[in-house]
Amino acid sequence: MHLTDRCNNRCRFCMVDEIHGQFSFPYETALELIDKLPAGSKVDLFGGEPTLYQHFFDLLQYIQSKRLKCSIATNGRLFSKREFTDKVAAITGGECYIRTSLLGLSAEVHDRLTGVKGSYAELIAGLDHIVSAAMPCQVNIVITTDNLRELSEITKLAIDKGVPRIKFGLIVDAQSSPELVPTLDQIRPQLSEAVQIAENNGLTVTVEKAPLCLLPEYMNQFSSESVIGKWPRFYDDAGECGVCVARNWCDGLDPQYAAEFGTAGIRRIEKIPRKVLTPFPNDLSNGNQIRFLKLNLFAMPQKFIEHEQCEMIMLNLIEQTRQKHARIAFIDNNIVR
Ligand code: SF4
Repeated sequence: MHLTDRCNNRCRFCMVDEIHGQFSFPYETALELIDKLPAGSKVDLFGGEPTLYQHFFDLLQYIQSKRLKCSIATNGRLFSKREFTDKVAAITGGECYIRTSLLGLSAEVHDRLTGVKGSYAELIAGLDHIVSAAMPCQVNIVITTDNLRELSEITKLAIDKGVPRIKFGLIVDAQSSPELVPTLDQIRPQLSEAVQIAENNGLTVTVEKAPLCLLPEYMNQFSSESVIGKWPRFYDDAGECGVCVARNWCDGLDPQYAAEFGTAGIRRIEKIPRKVLTPFPNDLSNGNQIRFLKLNLFAMPQKFIEHEQCEMIMLNLIEQTRQKHARIAFIDNNIVR
């Protein structure tokens, strides 16, 4: 639910054109929408900065009264106030999922990217409060030329703070801030090291807004926002993408990135690494193996292909995947390495 365009940061790569405008979602309409949600739904609150929404606490209270789940995508600054964090935790029973953005290892880099001096100190204090209030949370890191060489250290900082999940993402629109956009070849080694550190320390890792060939060894960790909304993407179908086995599950490139840097950084995937496969489940009825917003890859055992209900079970699994906004692919064993 897009609550407001107001924001107290001025991120240089911000992807919302109208950000810092005056849009405010009508409160009554928000309540009506919530009333229509089926039991067990999750309400995602975002902006701008959703904590600046005029009816923020009232809305949280309403969501809680309906016994729905919620998540907040925030720059984390207001959580630097202990009483603010405690109020969010109290209203939601400590179960609201908090997604914050950590853009640098130091105030120097983070504040330069957010455009606001002091935003780093507030975010770090906010993270401490969120973690100590035992609210589930993650940090998002938008990869830029400014923080590229710090990805591993930022990851260690998140680990030190007790954050259980980390998400790395590319800048969505390279044209908005071309000087901040690293090439895929520059990103690859830095991101690979950071992801390994995160995984070795037990964090859940996600990569988004990136082609799968950026890190094929972790392709099952890639989310795809194309399952939620559509925006233009570019594929080198006359070249590498045209002969890539992952073409149908890949988000491709930002067209502005391709215009700026070309397609040199993309590399066809010829075989799927075995380690990214989800074991083919014995029980396909409940969809528990489907991971929200991620790529689920199943290698098809011969005995399943020959199963008389193979097609029906696959359709059922695809439908369950769609409901979780995830992606699914059934892999022929001859393209597994
Ligand atoms: S080669 Fe193209 S389709 Fe294949 S993973 Fe890379 S960008 Fe995606």
